Amino acid sequence: MNTILLNDSYAIKEKCGVFGIYGKGLEAARLTYFGLYSLQHRGQESSGISTADGKTIRTHKATGLVTQVYTEPDLQKLKGYIAIGHNRYSTSGGSISDHNQPVAGKNDIVALVHNGNLPVTKKLVRFLSSRGLYTQGLNDSELIHLAIKYFVVKKHSLEEAIIKSYPLFTGAFCLLVMTKDNMVAVRDHYGIRPLSIGRVNGGYVIASETCAIDTVDGEYIRDVLPGEMIVISNKGMKSCQIATPNQKLDIFEFVYFSRPDSLLLGKRVYSVRRNLGKELAKEYPIKADIVIPVPDSSMPAALGYSSELNLPCEFGLVKNRYIWRTFIMPGKRLRGRSVKMKHNAIPEVIKGKKVVLIDDSIVRGTTAKTLVRTLRDAGAKEVHILSSCPPIRYPDFYGIDTPTQKELIASHKTVLQIEKHIGADSLYFLSYKGLIKAVGLPESIFCTSCFTGNYPISIGKHANKIKTPASKM
Ligand code: 5GP
Ligand code: MG
Repeated sequence: MNTILLNDSYAIKEKCGVFGIYGKGLEAARLTYFGLYSLQHRGQESSGISTADGKTIRTHKATGLVTQVYTEPDLQKLKGYIAIGHNRYSTSGGSISDHNQPVAGKNDIVALVHNGNLPVTKKLVRFLSSRGLYTQGLNDSELIHLAIKYFVVKKHSLEEAIIKSYPLFTGAFCLLVMTKDNMVAVRDHYGIRPLSIGRVNGGYVIASETCAIDTVDGEYIRDVLPGEMIVISNKGMKSCQIATPNQKLDIFEFVYFSRPDSLLLGKRVYSVRRNLGKELAKEYPIKADIVIPVPDSSMPAALGYSSELNLPCEFGLVKNRYIWRTFIMPGKRLRGRSVKMKHNAIPEVIKGKKVVLIDDSIVRGTTAKTLVRTLRDAGAKEVHILSSCPPIRYPDFYGIDTPTQKELIASHKTVLQIEKHIGADSLYFLSYKGLIKAVGLPESIFCTSCFTGNYPISIGKHANKIKTPASKM
């Protein structure tokens, strides 16, 4: 059987999700399971949990969705009051199960989960090699694990080990690290990926998104600051600023990645997405008959747009919610129908109408092109496509890995050319200024590289491959 990657999702690497909990008397593994379940949108390729009970670290990880990876006996075997967990998406087509997280060997003394990516690992590899450690075939997360473990083996505490190895890590990282009796969370000093802290039943929870804290009935306290290390032990929670913060949260978390019920930098993602729609309405108002969102991620933006212009918003497209990033296609003949399997139209809503279709983003243009077709087939009189973020012209190196720059449609086509390519009556992208306005926070605290090509963290030799698109808006 053939595993193919469907439509808008292929080859874009999801940002992973991490979740950790520390609490005497708590069923850490089960709570982590629920936390990971609520972070499923951040990675659907594999999942894993490590737990510790003061004596031993146990790990269970496998390829698949959260519901497929753990059985009841698996959770029961994961004994302990400390747990860290991870949802992952792998680099390309096939899953590389060797790289599933948590990074922890059998009977390991350190377990680690990592959300983010180190675009440059030269310093880290050089350090490890000079200490006689074998680094070949290890990915960035495994190299980080090896470096921390190196210091733990030398009898440093986990927090000392992290302070010592931190300068070797150059890139985007949210790490949860544990030994048999301690848990530490640490975030790179740009804070590219989100990470929040909550309180739960006398213990602490740390998660990529606040929605996961809500899921386990925790109370959100605050975010882990960029460059901050949080140590949780039987002495409680301790904070230590180990690098000077220079906040650069990936603005794409607001646009697409995070769940709408999460808080980022104190802002509800849902409200920001509604604002994106409102800004779109101010910049590009269309006297349409109906506004339709591309489900599910564009719903808040479509509501913002339609309410601003007093237009009806209808769910004219239905998404099969059981389709995740990958799924097994039954045979060649059905492959061409894969798009219809993801989104289907409701003709009664669309027939004879002038439609504004709102999507959160246009990456390769596949979704927009196929949906224009779908809407026309369902009888739409006109189809106008609006993207709630500016053209994505530059690839990501901090944890999404948008395939290559040339696969990003806006990197080599003008807006007019894209409009033609997707066959829409018109196409509009929210302006960069409009994006910043909708978020309502200073531009300087964001990583905007996918729109601007300004990479806050060195991307090393990758920079040679980046081209300045001929067509800026
Ligand atoms: P396109 O079809 O243009 O390549 O992708 C656009 C669609 O992909 C949009 O509907 C958007 O919701 C979704 N999208 C944007 N970024 C990502 C990502 O990083 N991963 C996945 N799976 N989808 C994405
Ligand atoms: Mg989408």
